[in-house]
Amino acid sequence: KGRIYEITKVRTTCPYCGVGCQMYLHMKGDQIIEVSGVEDALPNKGRLCVKGRYGYDFIYSKERLTTPLIKENGVFREASWDEALDLVVSKFKSIIEKHGNDAVGGISCARSINEDSYQMQKLFRAVFKTNNIDHCARVCHAPTVAGLAASLGTGGMTNSLGECANTNLLFCIGTNMTEAHPIAATFVKNGKRNGAKLIVVDPRRHRLADYADEFAQLKVGSDVAFLNGIMNVLITEDKYDKEFVKEHCENWEDFKAKVLEYPPSRVAEISGVPEEQIIRIANMLWDNRPGMALYTLGITEHNSGTDNVKSVANLQLLLGNVGKENAGVNPLRGQNNVQGACDMGALPNTYHGYQYVVDPKAREKFEKAWGVENLPDQLGKMIPDMMDGLKTGEQKALWIFGENIVATEPDISHVISCLEAAEFVVCNDLFMTETTQYADVIFPAAAWSEDDGTFTNCERRVSRVRKIKDAPGDAKPNWWIFKEVAKRFGHNWEASSGPEIWDNEVAPLADNFKGLTFDKIEEDGIQWPCRSVEDPGTQILHMNGNFARPGGKAYLSDLDWRPPTEVPDEEYPFTLSTGRRLYHYHTRTQTGRAKGLNDLLPEEYADISDVDAKRLGIEHGEKIIVRSRRGEVKVTARVSERIQPGLVWMAIHYFENNANWLTTSTGKDSITKTPEYKACAVAIEKIS
Ligand code: SF4
Repeated sequence: KGRIYEITKVRTTCPYCGVGCQMYLHMKGDQIIEVSGVEDALPNKGRLCVKGRYGYDFIYSKERLTTPLIKENGVFREASWDEALDLVVSKFKSIIEKHGNDAVGGISCARSINEDSYQMQKLFRAVFKTNNIDHCARVCHAPTVAGLAASLGTGGMTNSLGECANTNLLFCIGTNMTEAHPIAATFVKNGKRNGAKLIVVDPRRHRLADYADEFAQLKVGSDVAFLNGIMNVLITEDKYDKEFVKEHCENWEDFKAKVLEYPPSRVAEISGVPEEQIIRIANMLWDNRPGMALYTLGITEHNSGTDNVKSVANLQLLLGNVGKENAGVNPLRGQNNVQGACDMGALPNTYHGYQYVVDPKAREKFEKAWGVENLPDQLGKMIPDMMDGLKTGEQKALWIFGENIVATEPDISHVISCLEAAEFVVCNDLFMTETTQYADVIFPAAAWSEDDGTFTNCERRVSRVRKIKDAPGDAKPNWWIFKEVAKRFGHNWEASSGPEIWDNEVAPLADNFKGLTFDKIEEDGIQWPCRSVEDPGTQILHMNGNFARPGGKAYLSDLDWRPPTEVPDEEYPFTLSTGRRLYHYHTRTQTGRAKGLNDLLPEEYADISDVDAKRLGIEHGEKIIVRSRRGEVKVTARVSERIQPGLVWMAIHYFENNANWLTTSTGKDSITKTPEYKACAVAIEKIS
């Protein structure tokens, strides 16, 4: 590969999932020749999964976009930066003039560095004067931000991944972390090996369930009922932390009354989990405190996503498992920087650091800092409303930064019809994707390793991302693109690098980051809040029951279960649930260009139960049709005893048989509008 004296090592952060593994890129010239974990560095202590180790070659792909593109008569042609930027500015100006500031909207990128998301939301708020800015947390963990903020006061993981190895109990609900967050799963297995009890709750018997002391295979969408059932046992058997609840929680009486409506017998009927197992799990939780609760999108991507998150928080509060070591409510965020994109204010309701746009004091602060007047005081639109708005005509322009929304949003036909209705679409991207083909202008952007900045992992750890080479051709850093557009609107922004954006604006303008300077994370990352130069960061939130809500107490929510929006019927007798697999990441824009990974998973499957397969005469490896009210896909059946009868499970990695041809855009979480990716009704058919 290279002589030892030719090789340099550059430390950086993995570009895939929210674990945020620290890695060394072994470089020969500007070529990565090997990737290794950084021994002893948090969060991964030298470990890497297959994506982190082998998923880097996309940055060298010959398919990279290298020059701005403008669509003319339905065909893209190359353009100069000035021409493309001027066109975007003139279109945005005329749309805003004719239809108002809220006629434009933006979707930021959870793959890119914090500084890019900060810059994009600043462009929309300070220059376009709209809060119509959002990002893909909308389709994954927006319920976490809303639910944990309501319950505990802070919308982030309360504890840290390393604590999994030292806790007494791991309660993993709705998380296929062995595939989606593989290194987090290794710490859970370490915890189990060190004597912790492991409870896994999921509709699928995924790999982690093989290690579990209790595996509860609940029905899709029954989480609130199941958790109420557990808490019913804890309360009726007097096994809850009375002192903690009395001192640190509000709404006890209403919460208790609601939970008592869910005895195990009723919950067994709703969830399919036997009554005696509900009682056993409740006792295991009580007997093995403190314990950690971990969850992923199996909790959030439901019509009750925010309620599900609040329910997990309820359970941990009832057990007194919050605000202490080896405990807490621990969402594993999906993409490498989805925590960061939320933290940076790429949300329609907050500036960075979760400062609310409806708070006059926050607006005043940012008006002064950004040198502008009249920042918008209304909440912006969430992605589903922006999309629908394109169709109704309320929304005219959409700027999509690094997201392949045609393949990731629910109901692909609907998404395409929305984009086709748009007056003007701009994309920043590395490659042509299913989404960029609907753009009027495409800006070629710098990728991971082509710019300096930071990612924030799921445990709030802000870590360095380092530049190892220039972007190809004329591709530019995203923060530069936003800055150039702002300049053409008459705003001269000073910062001209990721580090300057962080140190000059991100850190000083948000309490959570005040003490978190670029210098300080030169070696290891720091977990926010980090409020002063002396502050080493915060491993555990809400220590000693100090909650970040008004009054300082946590909130026990009284919650009712409701079924998924679309339940199986005679025509569509199966429930489709979606997720992702180990070897690919989302729509494969990156992993699809990493040769080794493509070889490992070259096509999509529909996982169905052995019971259903036998009944329908479907063989493992046979092609089937999966059909919903939105569309149909032809896909290879993978027959498995890990799937419960009545369930079909698919991912979104391959476009032609992407599960999102089938998912629904009308079923969504009532608070955050996060789509109900985990439940829609489908039929399956053997192709004769
Ligand atoms: Fe990268 Fe996540 Fe794998 Fe770590 S676990 S190497 S962050 S994909």
